[in-house]
Amino acid sequence: MKFNTKAIHGGQHHDPSTGAVMPPVYQTSTYAQHNPGEPNNGYEYSRAANPTRTALENALASIENGTRGLAFSSGLAATDCVLRGLKAGDEVIAMDDLYGGTYRMFTRIYKNSGIVFHFVDMNDLEKFQSLINENTRLVWVETPTNPLMKLADIEAIATITKKHPNILFAVDNTFATPYLQKPLDLGADIVMHSATKYLGGHSDVIAGALIVKDEELGNQLHFQQFATGATLGPQDSFLVLRGIKTLHLRVQRHCENGAKVADYLVNHPKVERVYYPGLENHPFHEIAKKQMIGGFGGMVTFTFKSGLKQDSIDFLKKLKVFTLAESLGGVESLANHPALMTHASIPEDKRKEIGITDDLVRLSVGVEDVDDLIEDLKQALA
Ligand SMILES: *Cc1c(COP(=O)(O)O)cnc(C)c1O
Repeated sequence: MKFNTKAIHGGQHHDPSTGAVMPPVYQTSTYAQHNPGEPNNGYEYSRAANPTRTALENALASIENGTRGLAFSSGLAATDCVLRGLKAGDEVIAMDDLYGGTYRMFTRIYKNSGIVFHFVDMNDLEKFQSLINENTRLVWVETPTNPLMKLADIEAIATITKKHPNILFAVDNTFATPYLQKPLDLGADIVMHSATKYLGGHSDVIAGALIVKDEELGNQLHFQQFATGATLGPQDSFLVLRGIKTLHLRVQRHCENGAKVADYLVNHPKVERVYYPGLENHPFHEIAKKQMIGGFGGMVTFTFKSGLKQDSIDFLKKLKVFTLAESLGGVESLANHPALMTHASIPEDKRKEIGITDDLVRLSVGVEDVDDLIEDLKQALA
């Protein structure tokens, strides 16, 4: 089955009792049993499994070419589930440009439990390899990164991690979505999503996902989730499943609009630098062409020639079609000031070191008519 068909039908079947085309929202915590200890069709309690969540989890596995999907109450809950498999003394190597909340979890929660984190530019493969030792258990990569649109070569990293059977390689695929990039096919062990973003796609739900190919790893992660409890409720599972059915249509348009917005900004006299992997002068354009099939996404970041924080604030306040808000990946266009909003939890010196300057603006280009979006940017930059 091809991707566009999988987005709609992958892992799905009609509801067995009524033939309902969409799975009902099974708003139930528990399930009647005929004989003690013999649950019907495997359902006994909704923290362990719920049919609406199962339908979503099967769809997730299908679109990422995995065997097992798990749906969580948030993206961070999904990340947390992976980290819970580690113990004191274990080491993690992570990309040096991460979603602020992921960085916060690593450095302010798990570091305190004795887990050692190394943050490294994953494009320096020699440096990355030099950090691997007998305690290394996890490699965590986000590509493209938030907000600087740095890329990492998933296949090249997987070639290295596969030589070490104790290391799991996880990729946060939130920005690219499986429409553009399939980390499991490129050798990763775990795909993580903030399904709050493109998978849900309508800015109406907080949700997360993990997808794996290896069945045993799937069972271990499900056990962690079941034993700690951060599952996605049936109503929210329904919303994400509904979102996935138009993922291919939406991301295709996000890519088209994103590319046009990036081109417009590149040629604007007040704009200094545009970060978009589709631009030929983007430092990771070659990797993007190799591993992002069919487009470069809808996230565009830029800075001002003046370098002034005030210019970025004035611009954000003047926008009319773009909404000033955190989050991304919904049908509506959003604009965000990373240093003051999404990435404020990263210490200022660390932010500067990575390149998140005070005049940096991140756009989540939506699926509105692109002429209206460009008109809005024009008036706000004037
Ligand atoms: C939003 C986001 C997360 C966290 O997901 P939540 O659903 O907000 O918990 C993780 N990674 C990336 C890249 C994100 O954009």
